[in-house]
Amino acid sequence: MDTHSSADEGDPSARFIYYSVTLSSICFLFFTCSEPTHKVKESKSFIGKNIVKPARKPLLAAKKTAKKKKKIYLTFDDGPNRGTKNVLDIAEQEDIPVTFFIVGEHVFASIGQTRTWDSLKMAKNIELCNHSYTHAHNRYNKFYNDPENVVKDVERTRESLLPDNNIVRAPGRSCWRVDSLHFTDIKKSKKAIDSLQQAGFIVFGWDLEWEYNPKTLALKNSADDLLSEIDSMFSKGKTKVKDNLVVLAHDQVYQKSGDSMQLREFIQKLKKKEDYELALVNDFPGITKETIDSIKAAPR
Ligand SMILES: [Zn+2]
Repeated sequence: MDTHSSADEGDPSARFIYYSVTLSSICFLFFTCSEPTHKVKESKSFIGKNIVKPARKPLLAAKKTAKKKKKIYLTFDDGPNRGTKNVLDIAEQEDIPVTFFIVGEHVFASIGQTRTWDSLKMAKNIELCNHSYTHAHNRYNKFYNDPENVVKDVERTRESLLPDNNIVRAPGRSCWRVDSLHFTDIKKSKKAIDSLQQAGFIVFGWDLEWEYNPKTLALKNSADDLLSEIDSMFSKGKTKVKDNLVVLAHDQVYQKSGDSMQLREFIQKLKKKEDYELALVNDFPGITKETIDSIKAAPR
């Protein structure tokens, strides 16, 4: 038997009763469904000491376990040269931040090196800093005896290639002028390094060098040796700034497949270490956007 047909086709009063009952049912259902929302709202206004706040516990636990990572800055000097493209390819394939300290005249030394320079500029997660124009032609004592010329040489690379970055590594020297960090490795260079700072440059050294034989360009240490040295320097607090370590490497070493394999192995093993993270030099403590921009305001 179809009960609906009696309401649709029967007398008007029966149809009125049918619609009234249907409407009441819908209203009842609506309020029944809405009720839990009201209940939640009401219960919030009655939160007391017996109410457990489950969201707090995981947050506190996460805070306890989130340890601040130690930062490692991979820096490569003297490019562009024959090893630079290999280093760049490995950095991009491994998706890591890498800083290159550029020698100005190397950019113009060959068509290949100019192309490499273009690739560096296009690359993501790569920072390009100043490593002078001539690299003192490797005659460091003479170079640092003339502070004015040191500033001119660095200025030349800034003006022709890196107008927006005032972070400099002095050729052949691990000197620091970063915020309150002042260090000069060879005292005879002090005046020249101070002149760079007065001209508005940040001077950036290194904590650990991945050494190589200058005649054969072969690495002296394996990737594992270097990783052990890093662990040791952090644990003994031997870095210039606590929990920050700057690695110096040289592009030209990695033109050989054996040494570039060591570089890749080093990076892959470093990425697996949970206590460490890789960073660009502009992330180093004491370097801010303002200090990088200060070169534009420095007196000439
Ligand atoms: Zn150099």
